[in-house]
Amino acid sequence: MHGTRRYEGPGDLHLHSTHSDGTEPPAQVMAAAHAHGMRTVALTDHDTTSGWAEAADAATSLGMTFVPGMEMSSQHRWRSIHVLAYLIDPDEPRLRAMTEKVRRSRVERARIMAERIGRDYDVTWEDILAQTSTGATVGRPHIADALVARGVVGDRGEAFSTILSAGGEYYVSLYSPDPVEAIGLIVGAGGVPIIAHPAGRAGIPPESLMARMLAAGLAGFELGHRENTPEGVATLRALAEERDLIVTGSSDYHGLGKPNQPGEHTTTEVMLARLLERGTGSAPLFP
Ligand code: AMP
Ligand code: FE
Ligand code: FE
Ligand code: ZN
Repeated sequence: MHGTRRYEGPGDLHLHSTHSDGTEPPAQVMAAAHAHGMRTVALTDHDTTSGWAEAADAATSLGMTFVPGMEMSSQHRWRSIHVLAYLIDPDEPRLRAMTEKVRRSRVERARIMAERIGRDYDVTWEDILAQTSTGATVGRPHIADALVARGVVGDRGEAFSTILSAGGEYYVSLYSPDPVEAIGLIVGAGGVPIIAHPAGRAGIPPESLMARMLAAGLAGFELGHRENTPEGVATLRALAEERDLIVTGSSDYHGLGKPNQPGEHTTTEVMLARLLERGTGSAPLFP
């Protein structure tokens, strides 16, 4: 068991870097979290763990506890569900094969979207690649950045509400597993699965899916997140209490890519301790 003394203070367990769609390298993300008073941090890039080493070094040098994490893409019918995966073994073969498959699909999908958008706007696949760090998980935010660079839109938010919108003519979906499968893979890799921003505008996951996710080992919900609605949070808080689940809060910082600031939501020490006790695939790093 880990002592509680070593992770005293607020924790932000949902941060993105240039290894996915954040705009800052891992060390800079950790510095931003530290500047906002965080004492425990997790790097949770989409479908990749490649930023961990740099982030862990930076975080612990700054006196923070580092929790390894990832935000896994999944989908239930039309609904995209993001599953935060803490303390996974990054080399577990089945989980790794799945994240590699999702990342490959993301590249293919971005290429097709680029081709479609390129028919109407002055943006090319090369423009998009120029916005993406080598090896990074590619996403719509990189297409948005290319559109911003070309002066087509003012910022990522405008790109998402117009050209990149999921209902729009340029949108292409990416391959990702069912949430129940994603949760199974995370648990199989020794990780702790927590649904990210589970109460967004699309509503909370339907009851039948929720039951299957819990049966697969879902550990809890990220209830502190700016995209959650108060009604959804109230429902999920009641469920979390009834089932004794872990409840987290975090910023979902993406550097300049979103207005979210480190520490705007945080995770309590009690919940952090439960999370650390439950994960066995990788270890937290202490300063
Ligand atoms: P994708 O997974 O490629 O479909 O892109 C979804 C990602 O885009 C999410 O991880 C969000 O971080 C980001 N995103 C979604 N909506 C917005 C927005 N309005 N502004 C900036 N980033 C966004
Ligand atoms: Fe993102
Ligand atoms: Fe997300
Ligand atoms: Zn995120």
